[in-house]
Amino acid sequence: MIHLRLVGKTGGSEILIGKPLARLPELVGRERNAVIVTDENVARLYATSFPSWPVVTIPPGEQNKNLPTVLRIYRRFLELGVDRQWLVVAVGGGVVCDVAGFAASTYLRGLEIGFVPTTLLAQVDAALGGKNGVNFYGYKNLVGTFRQPRFVLCDFETLRSLPLQAVRSGLAEVIKAAAIADRPMFGFLEKNIRSCLNLDRKAIAAAVARSCRVKIDIVSRDEQEAGERRKLNFGHTVGHALEKISRLDHGEAVAIGMAIAARLSVRKGLLAKEEEARLIRLLKEAGLPVTLRIKPSSLGRALLKDKKRENRNIHFVFLSKLGQAVVEKIVPQEIIEAAHDLR
Ligand code: NAD
Repeated sequence: MIHLRLVGKTGGSEILIGKPLARLPELVGRERNAVIVTDENVARLYATSFPSWPVVTIPPGEQNKNLPTVLRIYRRFLELGVDRQWLVVAVGGGVVCDVAGFAASTYLRGLEIGFVPTTLLAQVDAALGGKNGVNFYGYKNLVGTFRQPRFVLCDFETLRSLPLQAVRSGLAEVIKAAAIADRPMFGFLEKNIRSCLNLDRKAIAAAVARSCRVKIDIVSRDEQEAGERRKLNFGHTVGHALEKISRLDHGEAVAIGMAIAARLSVRKGLLAKEEEARLIRLLKEAGLPVTLRIKPSSLGRALLKDKKRENRNIHFVFLSKLGQAVVEKIVPQEIIEAAHDLR
C-alpha cells in the first residue's frame, strides 16, 4: 500500500493507494455514523462489500451529474437524519465523487467526505484535489466547491470490472500526468503500457501512484487554480470541446486534445518533433485516438463557447519537453490551425 498526503487550505487528504475496500470501516472509525453515496452500476457490483451503513444510490452517467441529483441526495440525508458528525463516503467513478462531493460540501455548510474511486480516471484524477462540481445549463462543472476529502482509498480490484474502454480513458490521464510533470514516468509508461492496459497489479499500482503524486504536487502549490494547476488541463481545452460535439468519451477527447496541444507546441518552437512523436506513439499504443475526425471549424465554435475562455484569449497548456508543461495565452484560431494538421 502506498500512502500519500495532500495538504490544502480546505483540509488535508490521506491518499491510500492499493488499500482494499474492505478496510473502509477502520478508516472511518467504528463509532462514527457514515453514509455511502454510490451509483446503480457500482451498487450492483460492489454493494455486498460495503460496510453496513445506509446507502444513497443515484442513477449513473454524466447526464445525472446535475442539481436534481444533488437535491435527491439532500432529501435522503434529511430522511436519514444526517448531522454534522456524519461522514459521507462516495464509492464510484468521477460522477459519483463530483456529485457526492458537492452534496456533502454544501449540506449543513459542509460535511466531511471520503472517496473510494472505482474507475481508473477517478483514482488518478477526479477523486483528488478537492474540486467538486456539477453541470448546469449545458456547462460542465459550472457549479461547484473546493473542499478536500478526508481520505481517498484506491482499491485496484474494483478496476477489474471496468470495460477496456474505461481503462484506456483513465490511461489518457495517466499519460497526461507523465507528459506535464514526470519524464521518468513517461519512460516507464512507454515500457509498460500493455501491462497497464491489462491491469497488471505492479504496473497499475505504479501508474496510479505516480499520477497521484503529480496531481498532489501541483494542487499543493495551487489549490484554487490561479496558475500552476492549469497545467492539469493539458489536452483538456480541446478535449472538453470535443466531448460536447462528438461521441468521444473523456479519455479519447483528451488524447486528441493532447495531440493537438503537442502539435501547437512544435509549431511554436517549444517542443522537439521527436518528443511529439513519442507522445503520439504512446497514446496510440494505449489504444487512444490521435486524429481529428470532425471539421476544425466545428471545433472552433465549441471552443469559443467554453466557460474557461477569458475574452478572446485562452490559457493553453503547451509542452516544452516530455515531463514539462508551460501555460501561455493564445487565441482559439491558433488551436484551429493546429487542428488542421491532425485531420
Ligand atoms: P463515471 O463516474 O460516469 O463512470 C463511468 C461508468 O462506469 C458509469 O456508468 C459507472 O457507473 C461505471 N463504473 C464505475 N465504477 C465501475 C467499476 N468499478 N466497474 C464497472 N463500472 C463502473 O465516469 P468517470 O470516467 O469515472 O468520471 C468522469 C467524471 O469525472 C466527469 O464528470 C468529470 O468531469 C469528472 N472529473 C472530475 C474531476 C475533479 O477534479 N473533480 C477531475 C476529472 C474528472
